[in-house]
Amino acid sequence: MIDDVLLMGPGPSNAYPEVLTAMSQPLLGHLDHQFLELLDETNSRMRTLFGTSNQLTFPVSGTGSAGMEIGFVNLVKPGDVVVVGVNGVFGTRMVEVAARKGAEVISVEYDWGTPVTADRLLSAHPNPSMIAMVHAETSTGVRSDVAEVGAGKGDALLFLDCVTSLGGIPVNLDEWGVDMAYAGTQKCLGVPPGLAPFSINERAIERVVARPTSWYLDLNLIGGYVGPGARQYHHTAPISMIYGLHAGLGVVLDEGIEACHVRHAAVGAELQRRMPEMGFDLFAQDGHRLPELTTVVVPEHLQDREAAIRKSLRMDYNIEIGGGLGPVAGKVWRIGLMGGSARMENVERFVGALKQIIG
Ligand SMILES: *Cc1c(COP(=O)(O)O)cnc(C)c1O
Repeated sequence: MIDDVLLMGPGPSNAYPEVLTAMSQPLLGHLDHQFLELLDETNSRMRTLFGTSNQLTFPVSGTGSAGMEIGFVNLVKPGDVVVVGVNGVFGTRMVEVAARKGAEVISVEYDWGTPVTADRLLSAHPNPSMIAMVHAETSTGVRSDVAEVGAGKGDALLFLDCVTSLGGIPVNLDEWGVDMAYAGTQKCLGVPPGLAPFSINERAIERVVARPTSWYLDLNLIGGYVGPGARQYHHTAPISMIYGLHAGLGVVLDEGIEACHVRHAAVGAELQRRMPEMGFDLFAQDGHRLPELTTVVVPEHLQDREAAIRKSLRMDYNIEIGGGLGPVAGKVWRIGLMGGSARMENVERFVGALKQIIG
């Protein structure tokens, strides 16, 4: 028997009950008319959440990282200059993925806990082919502003990681001048890990390479299945996951996108009010804190037993939170309130358990 754990780490979050119900529906064939209707409606719901009219908006078969990979493998040719804003683990991953496609990567580094900034990203190179950045950096709990980068991008494509932002805070791809973006199901959408909502505009589609080095993630081929009209088999769509995403997006839209953001904002604010009262300072820069992912500094006197405290949360209280990554490993915790986990009673349950453990 699997434990029923309250997932308050950096992902996955708890799925909405409607999602799990939807995922247990009977399977359909991936070319079945009823399934294709559901897929089209899923894509349309994603457009609404992404704030875009991009025709080519669909769920990539794979977790959030597959969304990152599909962008770079289809749009980067060897020698292309790609500017990446790096203020945590996921910016670092973008550098690694772009470099593997042969890009000449210019990594613009920021202190962990601070946002990436338009001035430094835009002045890093006179004419890059792409600028890539993370909207919500899950390793540090920081939101970076996008609109100013979009306004100044010039001829470059702007590629945005929305994995931890979509569903949790506002995302407006078209308004911000984002050409291509991806998200993940397992963070603020309240759906299990397994799909990467993806969206690309016409300007970027015109620059897709003719023969990407990945067959599985070739947008030219996938477009023949997810696009309107001809429905050509490329790979079998993950049917049950798409049922789940369809339902998760339905939960968000029924609640109202704005109301869903307000719910995330309210629980995040409450957690960020309570943690300092217990001696845990907030790590992310004020004004750029994500409500859905809070990083706290573990007080010095607790640092030698921080792993034991997290273990006790899991073993004795069935609560998962995340430890720090990279340079802040052992020094910070990452506490998520995303998707189905973003409830006020979960803040109370976590704070109560932590108080009991640390006395
Ligand atoms: C979780 C995450 C990813 C990677 O998603 P996976 O589902 O783990 O592949 C990428 N970017 C950000 C900002 C994330 O939080």
